[in-house]
Amino acid sequence: MIQVKQLQKSFSTEDGGVQAVRGVDFEVEKGEIFTLLGPSGCGKTTILRSIAGLERPDDGELVIGEKVVFGDRGRIMVPAHLRGVGMVFQSYAIWPHLTVFQNVAFPLVYGSFTVPKSEVKRRVRQALDLVQLQGLEDRPAPLLSGGQQQRIALARALIYQPKVLLLDEPLSNLDAKLRTEMRLEIRALAKKLKMTTIYVTHDQEEALVLSDRIAVVFQGKIVQVGSPREIYVEPSNTFVAGFVGEANLLEVRVEADTLENGSRTVSSPMGSIACSVPGHVRSGEMVTLMFRPDSLNICKDLVGHGCNSFPGRVEQVAFVGSRLKCEIQVGSTVLLGEISSSVEIKQGDEVIVEIPSNRVRVFAQ
Ligand code: ADP
Ligand code: MG
Repeated sequence: MIQVKQLQKSFSTEDGGVQAVRGVDFEVEKGEIFTLLGPSGCGKTTILRSIAGLERPDDGELVIGEKVVFGDRGRIMVPAHLRGVGMVFQSYAIWPHLTVFQNVAFPLVYGSFTVPKSEVKRRVRQALDLVQLQGLEDRPAPLLSGGQQQRIALARALIYQPKVLLLDEPLSNLDAKLRTEMRLEIRALAKKLKMTTIYVTHDQEEALVLSDRIAVVFQGKIVQVGSPREIYVEPSNTFVAGFVGEANLLEVRVEADTLENGSRTVSSPMGSIACSVPGHVRSGEMVTLMFRPDSLNICKDLVGHGCNSFPGRVEQVAFVGSRLKCEIQVGSTVLLGEISSSVEIKQGDEVIVEIPSNRVRVFAQ
């Protein structure tokens, strides 16, 4: 439905210029919710604005539906209002002097394709129903809460019944509880309307919850595309591992021996760890081990533990509802752990930490 090919965009600035997007490729299927996830300044907004037609790329090709909307070395550049996309921004861009009705009707009344008055009324009602703002038509927009104002922006983006919805950090200005509710609502709405959606966020939890697929963006490039589960469980490098979810990262040296089950040992400051090292990595090389806090087994029973088990001391414990997050000192290394809060551990406890081999990922350097 949407194809982005070799997209490039730079901006000239006082100190020489910045290459905001450096050859980005991805495809979004019809009806899919696709998220661009990355830290601030990595180029997410520039990619989205290029698709919307609000930014002119330097090079590459953009296809929406069957139609090339940018391409042929810049000779094709379809204007924004002819691309059939609805867009919602972080700042709601609500007109403060207008009512809810007038704000939502705005594109129909002042836009490029005006429609008859009775049709405007019907469409605004329909859009307000979708975002659950029915009955608030006559309210001045500024008198609504942040969440309601963002719903107005969403209704306004839906008013042309676009095939494609582009959302740029739409929930960043809302408080935590509302954010959690609204992300599920946006997902439900996009699925109900079978909309092809590109969602931009720097919030990894938001991305994991509402996306069908996620592209992790770093310094103007896509570093991994996958389902939320793939991105979390099988990050392709240490940047993704550290950015999406919490991770323990250890620099270690690969040892010469290979164990019976095919795994190899690496030497870490904590001691030797058995894990599966890619075949091309030679002994003596340094690699980075990654394992998630929730993959650790933390045990108060100090006897009878096998491979990859290390004695440690609980340094910090934080209760986060059903889970306990903790820091465990093993030698000079501090590991992040996460376990069920039904296990009773407290600061100062001596424990055994086990790192299951099959939960360890190894990144060559
Ligand atoms: P993100 O949305 O991921 O935070 P942006 O796409 O907004 O990132 O920005 C990517 C890079 O391009 C940043 O370094 C930013 O400062 C720069 N940039 C974005 N828009 C402009 C502009 N209009 N002029 C100059 N630099 C810009
Ligand atoms: Mg941005």
